[in-house]
Amino acid sequence: MKYYSLNHNAPSVSFEEAVVKGLAPDRGLYFPETITPLPSSFFQNIENLTNEEIAFEAIKQFVGNDIPEKNLKEIIKETLCFDFPTVKVEENTYSLELYHGPTMAFKDVGARFMSRCLAYFNRNNTDQKNTVLVATSGDTGGAVASGFLGVDGVDVVILYPSGKVSDIQERQLTTLGQNIKAVEVDGVFDDCQDMVKKAFLDETLAYKNLTSANSINIARWLPQMFYFFFAYKQSKSLGKQMVFSCPSGNFGNICAGIMAKRLGLPIEHFVAATNVNDTVPQFLETGKYNPKPSKATISNAMDVGNPSNFIRIQELYNNDLTAFKKDFSSYSYTDEITSATLLEIYNNSGYIAEPHGVVGYLGLKKEMTRFPNAIGIFLETAHPIKFLDTVEPILKITLPIPSQIESVLNKEKVRVKIKTYEELKAFLNS
Ligand SMILES: *Cc1c(COP(=O)(O)O)cnc(C)c1O
Repeated sequence: MKYYSLNHNAPSVSFEEAVVKGLAPDRGLYFPETITPLPSSFFQNIENLTNEEIAFEAIKQFVGNDIPEKNLKEIIKETLCFDFPTVKVEENTYSLELYHGPTMAFKDVGARFMSRCLAYFNRNNTDQKNTVLVATSGDTGGAVASGFLGVDGVDVVILYPSGKVSDIQERQLTTLGQNIKAVEVDGVFDDCQDMVKKAFLDETLAYKNLTSANSINIARWLPQMFYFFFAYKQSKSLGKQMVFSCPSGNFGNICAGIMAKRLGLPIEHFVAATNVNDTVPQFLETGKYNPKPSKATISNAMDVGNPSNFIRIQELYNNDLTAFKKDFSSYSYTDEITSATLLEIYNNSGYIAEPHGVVGYLGLKKEMTRFPNAIGIFLETAHPIKFLDTVEPILKITLPIPSQIESVLNKEKVRVKIKTYEELKAFLNS
């Protein structure tokens, strides 16, 4: 399988090269040259397959010969070491819980898959390590830290803004040690992001093998297709059409859902639900794509004003707005509505959601009036404990602390503090 750059100004590359590079030399995102639907026998038989078998069938064409079957199966096994249940919240409304992994957010799957691919590509490389450099506003850092912990041949440097991530999130990325280094930046998330971009373009940096671990990397993005297959496996016996709603920030998750549909998964409709960072809902309404600076909300993992994966979605629809709108809707919700709905869901059904999932729920409810015979599935992308400062006061409850979180709570935070790019550079070169 070859991947081309969506800026169309760089050579096509193998899966391996696309993963190692992250972004094409012309700064474009990589995209697969072909997408071949899976045979109908696969869908007929899906309930008899394990999650690992399903994942292998879904991803193998995208990896091609770059990783032998035996190793790819091993990578998938290590990636999918937890459950992905669909939980009934109301009649015909289900939550697809993606938060049962080690850091309790859905990014665990992509981070674990990518880290193990990189380790495989590095297997014979004893003198030169890969360095993953990543800026985080919260959830990405923890998932990347945990996913890459102890992976041979890969060093990880995580930049996070001082005082802007929660205590739990900070502990998840500063307490692991080994090959994981945390850098606390005196600034906001955009400052961290700018430093990462500068490092990628810096010819004078001694460290050459830099890659990113955001969803622009195909090895973080593509495994997210698995969730949609797992949900189908669990709901197929209901014999109903399926509508999915994804709480969206960089639009990597929902774009992976559209890929799953291209592979033949019978998904009737997609909803991309956003907070007030409404660049895509506005685009669907006006036809104009107008990126804006991000605004802070209670669903902070979706505070993105210029979603990086949207260009991949446009590629999937050949920039045809009419075809796109047939499959896809997008709606935006304020923090006020999100908070009120969090409480309403709890009062009506006892289900404890968190702000990102609630945004997904709201988008789903709106769309379902058009699909009375379907079931609706919203993606619950994080465990409520990760947003306890919002969830507990609204629901007036105390959440029990899961063991995954407990284990980092009493560990000492270790990080380097920096203020300027020069300091980051000195750190990377040391
Ligand atoms: C990253 C994240 C999202 C947004 O996912 P995208 O693929 O960037 O659209 C939603 N919810 C949570 C909890 C996240 O961490």
